[in-house]
Amino acid sequence: MKISKLLEEDKITLSFEVFPPKRAESFDAVKNASETIASFHPDFMSVTYGAGGSTAGFTAELAAELKKDTGVPVLPHLTCVGSSKEHVDHMVETYVNEQIDNIMVLRGDLPSDGIVEHDFEHASDLIAYIKEKTDLCIGGACYPEGHVESRNKNMDLKYLKAKVDAGCDFLTTQMFFDNNIFYNFLYRAREAGINVPILAGIMPITNAKQLARSVALSGTNVPERFRAIVDTFADHPAAMKQAGIVYASEQIIDLIANGVKHIHVYSMNKPDVAEGILNNLSEIIR
Ligand code: FAD
Repeated sequence: MKISKLLEEDKITLSFEVFPPKRAESFDAVKNASETIASFHPDFMSVTYGAGGSTAGFTAELAAELKKDTGVPVLPHLTCVGSSKEHVDHMVETYVNEQIDNIMVLRGDLPSDGIVEHDFEHASDLIAYIKEKTDLCIGGACYPEGHVESRNKNMDLKYLKAKVDAGCDFLTTQMFFDNNIFYNFLYRAREAGINVPILAGIMPITNAKQLARSVALSGTNVPERFRAIVDTFADHPAAMKQAGIVYASEQIIDLIANGVKHIHVYSMNKPDVAEGILNNLSEIIR
C-alpha cells in the first residue's frame, strides 16, 4: 500500500523504523526483532540504508521479507551517496518486482573525506530521477532545527520546497526532543508552500551514549528537562530505558493533542521499546 494513501485517511498513524544488519550472520536476529515490531501492527515500517550504501542488499531483503511475512507496508530507504544510476535502477526494479510501493530517498551522510563518487548530488536529484521512472510513493527527510550543513533555516526550507516539488509525497522529520521546535517548523513549512504530510520523527532515548551519538550527528537541541532525566538515570540502565520510553510517549501524546496525526518512531530494532510506547498509548491511538 502506498503510504501517501494511508496518510490521506482520517486517522492517526504510527510507524516504526528498523535498520538492517551490517553482516549476514546478524540478518536473522534483525529480521526476528523487526517481525516482532511488525506484530504490533504499525501502519508501516521503514528500513534504513547503511552509510555509503553499505547495507544495500540487506535493506532490500529485509524490506521484502517483512512485507511478505507480515503484510505490513514497508518503506525501504535509498541514498545518493554510494548510488550510481545503474544501482538506483537495480534497487528500484527490485522494489517494483517485490510489489513494494514506497521508497524513502535521502542524500546520505557525506564520508569524512568528503569525496563521493555518485550520480546524484542532492536528495531532490534522486527523487526527480525515480519519479520520472516509476510510480513509487516517495518520502524525504526534513529538519525542524535546520540541517547541520545549512547556512540558515530559510535556505534549508527553500531546498526542502525544491525537494517536494521534485516529487516527494511526504516528509519525515529528524528526531526532536522539544515539540515546540516541531510546531514552529510546521508553521514555517506551510508558510513556505510545503503542503505534503509531515511525519513527526520521535526517537526514544534509552541510554546516555545513544543520546550523545545522536546529538553529535544531528545537532538536535536537548531541552533542560530531558537533560536532567538523562543525567539522573544515565547510570541506571533499566531506569533510563523506562524514562526514555515515557518521555517519547509524552512527546507523542502532546503531538496528538495538538492535532499532529502522523508519528514515526525510531525504534532501532528494539521490540520492547516499541511495545512500551504502544502500551503507554493503548487508549489514545487504538
Ligand atoms: P538533502 O535534501 O540533499 O539536503 C542535504 C543538504 O543540502 C541540506 O543542508 C540542504 O539544505 C542542502 N541542499 C539540498 N538541496 C540543495 C541544492 N539544490 N543546492 C544546495 N544545497 C542543497 N542516512 C542514511 O545514510 N541512511 C538512511 O537510511 C537515512 N535515513 C534517514 C531518515 C530520516 C527521516 C532522516 C531525517 C535522515 C536520514 N538519514 C539517513 C540521514 C540523511 O542522509 C542526512 O541527514 C543527510 O546529511 C541529508 O540527507 P537529505 O536527504 O536530507 O539531503
